[in-house]
Amino acid sequence: MSAAANEPMLQLKNIESAYGAVKAIRGVSLRVAPGEICTVLGSNGAGKSTILKTISGILDPLQGSVSFEGRAITSLDPAEIVKLGLLHVPEGREVFPLLSVRDNLLMGAYTRKDQDAVGRDIEQVFGYFPILRDRAKQPAGLLSGGQQQMLALSRAIMAQPRLILLDEPSLGLSPRLTHEIFEIVVRINRERGTAILVVEQNANMALNVADYGYILENGRVVMEDSCERLRERKDIQAFYLGIKETPAAGVQPAGKKRKVW
Ligand code: ATP
Repeated sequence: MSAAANEPMLQLKNIESAYGAVKAIRGVSLRVAPGEICTVLGSNGAGKSTILKTISGILDPLQGSVSFEGRAITSLDPAEIVKLGLLHVPEGREVFPLLSVRDNLLMGAYTRKDQDAVGRDIEQVFGYFPILRDRAKQPAGLLSGGQQQMLALSRAIMAQPRLILLDEPSLGLSPRLTHEIFEIVVRINRERGTAILVVEQNANMALNVADYGYILENGRVVMEDSCERLRERKDIQAFYLGIKETPAAGVQPAGKKRKVW
């Protein structure tokens, strides 16, 4: 096996980011392997969104480095990072409310020239979320919160990313819709080979679908391990994540083995 095959796809080293005088994350190092679902868990305000904003170039870190597929991206603009195949689905969905559902999807594919493949990808996301096919001609602003979350994720897929940064997909959704979204996240990962870094307060669900997890507290990574092992550590779950019951049933864990770095 080549050395490159053992390289992480995304690597953060010792990142510190702030909003003015407020330091939001400190000394954060993490890795995402190709084809992996990785999760960052932590309570409200722990710094999860700040990690994703720093990766996607919305926020410049005060210190540390970010690399994607072996290339330093720390000082790149968000648009350049998107072109490299790294897509951020921010908290709060941010669909274009006046555009139709179909046009929102086409916006995700605006840099692509392969029109036939764009059409196939639209069919694939309609297969993941049939409600979007039913609503294809309606303005996206008329969709429910859960449907907008589906559209935001689908629009990211239309850009054919190799890595998706997913910010709290469960936010404001019912348990049933959260379950549905996470099931599709696993399918996107398996069927398209897309790596996913998902940050969540719903640790129960994320631990069940991800391969590897980081626990963030007050802007610092306090623990990392395979989700298989994190699922077994009920003491850790109760202490850091407030989980008291057993992990979410129904969505099958991705269950991949992580490479030893
Ligand atoms: P949440 O689930 O509430 O989004 P989070 O773990 O994603 O939480 P962040 O949004 O990354 O946390 O916030 C980390 C810290 O940075 C918090 O103390 C928050 O108040 C602060 N913060 C976040 N955004 C801003 C901002 N635009 N200006 C100032 N402080 C901010």
